[in-house]
Amino acid sequence: MNRYDVIIIGSGLGSLLCGYILSKEGFSVCILEKHSVPGGCMQSFKRGENSFDTGIHYIGSMLPGQTLHSYWKYFGLSQSLGLERMNTDCFDLISLDGMDFRLAQGFDHFTENLAGQFPASREFLGQYVAALKETVSAFPLYNFQLTDKHTKTAWMGTNAWDFLNKMAGTDPGNRLLLEVLSGNNFLYAGRKVSTPWHQYALINHSFINSAWRLSHGSTQITDHLIAYITAAGGRVLTKMEVKKISSLKNKFQVETAGHEMLVGSRIIAGIHPQSALGILEPSLLKRSFQSRIMSMENTVSSFGLYLGLKPDSFPYMDHNLYYHSTRDAWAGQECKAAGWPGMYFMYTPSCSRHGEFTSAVCILSTMCYDEVKRWEGTSTGKRGPDYKTFKSECAEKLLKLVERKFPEIRSSITDMEISTPLTWRDYTGTPEGSMYGIRKESGNYLKTMILPHTKIPGFYFTGQNLNMHGAPGVTIGAIMTCAEILGLEYLFNKIRDAE
Ligand SMILES: Cc1cc2nc3c(=O)[nH]c(=O)nc-3n(C[C@H](O)[C@H](O)[C@H](O)COP(=O)(O)OP(=O)(O)OC[C@H]3O[C@@H](n4cnc5c(N)ncnc54)[C@H](O)[C@@H]3O)c2cc1C
Repeated sequence: MNRYDVIIIGSGLGSLLCGYILSKEGFSVCILEKHSVPGGCMQSFKRGENSFDTGIHYIGSMLPGQTLHSYWKYFGLSQSLGLERMNTDCFDLISLDGMDFRLAQGFDHFTENLAGQFPASREFLGQYVAALKETVSAFPLYNFQLTDKHTKTAWMGTNAWDFLNKMAGTDPGNRLLLEVLSGNNFLYAGRKVSTPWHQYALINHSFINSAWRLSHGSTQITDHLIAYITAAGGRVLTKMEVKKISSLKNKFQVETAGHEMLVGSRIIAGIHPQSALGILEPSLLKRSFQSRIMSMENTVSSFGLYLGLKPDSFPYMDHNLYYHSTRDAWAGQECKAAGWPGMYFMYTPSCSRHGEFTSAVCILSTMCYDEVKRWEGTSTGKRGPDYKTFKSECAEKLLKLVERKFPEIRSSITDMEISTPLTWRDYTGTPEGSMYGIRKESGNYLKTMILPHTKIPGFYFTGQNLNMHGAPGVTIGAIMTCAEILGLEYLFNKIRDAE
């Protein structure tokens, strides 16, 4: 029997950050990952000379003193990651029905840039930036502060679309600007009916502060955290899918697919809560808790093209592109089958840069799980010829949309890898291949909230389902999880005082 103070299920960002904190605090830690490669959404894959990141394409607030930089200093990440600052005049290019708009870094610069294109909307822009700042200031951990503020709960019930819509009023200029300000809503799988305003604000605020690509890909985060955990005596074991967690005399017994048995005093589930409930011994669970978690809906999945390109044929872009086929930035997120794809996100990986050109490009669009449901009983490489046809037809539709802006792209392609919601489901263990896990609902925020502690003593959650998805959300979530064991004030002071 392998015995540990803490067993962590999954090796995504949240799990590894928890493993780092608890190893540093002297706990014996074992992280179990079902795949052969650790990192979850931080994994990259290689095709030929090109390396593609799958789930972390850019991060925000990494200038010294900014929030993510302050947290990641404790983890040694701020000091060691290779970063490339994205174009300060345009980190996100929003394309709506053929018109391009640039989101710039730094709040003043952001405002001036957009005011150049929307001179009559200066007042709206001022209100917008003030609202972002006011909202974020109500979430102390997002400002690297400890004190709690009651005002944050008021924001949690506010719907992003309603809030922005009201602020924009009926002025036609403001109406278009409102769509521009919603243009990167792929970042949070935006839905008019349910996206909470505070989620919108925390994400946009982080990137407007400063936006960065990881120059050697997101695996450098995984490698750094694992190196520390291992050096501190912890273990990160791959090809160890957890199949069952049961109670054993005030501890937990964990059984893997290969029938290895481990015992942990505490468990942290860094996997989707619905998947975690599937492996927990039923007697540990209250029926009401189970039905609440199982009734939660997930964010939409994605369809992706990972293209290798001929040398010196396609420009490297130091910004992301969010392309929408109409002026309605929210329509593409609904991903109705008839009009698919209504939008795409496009980026060129930093490590594919060759001077002015790129050797690779990644294009993602949203896709509902229903589109691939008929193959859900199949596994990678064995899904059959009709699945291959489906993938090719979708790739063709997406490429046709991309050609509207880049007519030359097809002639540049040397090879193409395709991902579907099933790829994501099998790759992150997330139900229905959901991109960001449980969908937070502005109309029912508390109901869609997952807390780090549970009614099972010693059993905790971490990862993107907890607090919020994305690098800052998952980082703060990991701190909330470890604070359940160490105490928030104690842990926060350690993080604040880190060199
Ligand atoms: C397409 C896409 C693009 C994104 N882009 C960005 C971005 O640009 N910037 C940003 O900040 N964020 C981005 N995100 C969000 C970010 O990647 C995630 O929020 C974050 O990485 C999730 O981390 P996690 O800790 O929840 O774990 P996950 O990454 O979900 O990892 C969970 C791990 O658990 C493992 N696992 C599951 N079940 C078991 C089991 N039974 N036993 C053992 N192991 C198991 C899985 O194999 C996986 O490795 C993106 C996400 C997606 C999907």
